[in-house]
Amino acid sequence: MPLEGGHPTLLIDAQALAANWRTMARMAPSAEVAAAVKADCYGLGVDACVPHLVAAGARHFLVAHWLEVEDVARHVPPARISVLHGPVCAADVAIARRTGARPVINSLAQAQRWVQAGGGPCDLMIDTGINRLGLRPDEVRDPVVGQLDIEVLMSHLACADEDSPRNAQQQSLFTALLSAVAHRRASLANSAGVALGASYHLDVVRPGLALYGGVPRRELAGRIAPVATLAAPLVQRRRVRQGEGVGYNGTFAAPRDMDIGIVSLGYADGLLRVWGGSGALHFDGRELAMVGRISMDMLAVDLTCAPDAREGDLLTLAHDVPAAAHATGLSQYEVLTTLGRRMPRRTVRGSGCTAGPAGANAAQQ
Ligand SMILES: *Cc1c(COP(=O)(O)O)cnc(C)c1O
Repeated sequence: MPLEGGHPTLLIDAQALAANWRTMARMAPSAEVAAAVKADCYGLGVDACVPHLVAAGARHFLVAHWLEVEDVARHVPPARISVLHGPVCAADVAIARRTGARPVINSLAQAQRWVQAGGGPCDLMIDTGINRLGLRPDEVRDPVVGQLDIEVLMSHLACADEDSPRNAQQQSLFTALLSAVAHRRASLANSAGVALGASYHLDVVRPGLALYGGVPRRELAGRIAPVATLAAPLVQRRRVRQGEGVGYNGTFAAPRDMDIGIVSLGYADGLLRVWGGSGALHFDGRELAMVGRISMDMLAVDLTCAPDAREGDLLTLAHDVPAAAHATGLSQYEVLTTLGRRMPRRTVRGSGCTAGPAGANAAQQ
C-alpha cells in the first residue's frame, strides 16, 4: 500500500458498504431501504460513503440536523434527505425552504411551525415508547396533523437490539395508528429492527449501524461485512532495554531487550485509550500487540515478530465494530462515531483494504 504522508488514514471499503446495504434489502424485500447517514455516516465520512450507498440503490437518506443537509446534498437531491430533529426554530425552517430537505415533524409545535411556514412534504414521527422525539399517540388526531403532507409516517424502536416484549408492543401500537394519519409510506425498523422480521419492515426500513459494519443482533452475525480499516505509518523503530517503561506513566515495562514501533495513530484519531489493553495492529499478515498507553497522536507496538518493518511502512487496524465494542466496553455506535475527524477518508474496493481477518471477510461478500 503506498504511503500518502506520515499520517493515519481511514480506508472505507466501498464493496463492503454496498454489500451491507444489499443485505438489508434482501432481509426486508418488501421495503425500501433508506440509509441513516447522520453524524457524517456514523463517523466514516459522507463523501466516502454516500456515493457508494447511492450506487448500491439507496434513494432516501436520514440526517439528524439541518447543518448536515449540505454535505449529503452534494451527492443526492435534497428532497431525498429527511432531517430527524425537525424544524426546532425559524432558522431550521429557513434551511428547509432553501435546501428542499424534508423535516421529520416531532411535535404539535413543529407541525404548527411547518404549516405556518407554508408546509409541503414532510415526515411525521410518532413516539410509541422510546420517549425521545415524536408525537404521543393521543396527539395524532390533532387538527394540525391533518394539515400535514406526510410522506413517511415513522416510529422508532427502543429495544430492537434486545429480545424485549416492548418490540412487539411498539409494532402493534404503531400499526394500529397507521389508519389514523394520512401518509404515503410507513417506517419502523432501524438495523436491528430489520432482523426482527417482516412485520417490522412496513414500507421503509432505516438502517444505519449495520451499513457501517455494526452487528446489533445475532441474526445479523456473519451477514454484515466490516467497512473501515485504519492505516497508519510506523514513524520510528526503537530498541528498549529490559525494565524500561514505554509511554505515559510507563504502564508497560519491557520484559526483555526488545524492539518497539511508534505508530502515528492515537486517541485523537478515535483509538481511545481503552483499546490499548487488548489491541493489535497488522503488518504484512502479522499481528503486532499494542504496548503501553495510547497517546493523543501515537501508540507503541511490539515489533519482535516484525524485524523487517521499516519506518514509513504502513500498519493497519481492521475496524471490526462488534469486536472493538466487546473489547473496549464502548457501544458499537461509539466505536464508529469516535473515529477522529482529522484522518482523511479514502475509498478502497474490496480486500485491498486490510491485512487482517476483517479484510478477508469483506472480500468474501
Ligand atoms: C439513527 C436512527 C436510525 C438508524 O438506527 P441504527 O440503529 O443505526 O440502524 C433509524 N431511525 C432513527 C429515527 C434514527 O434516529
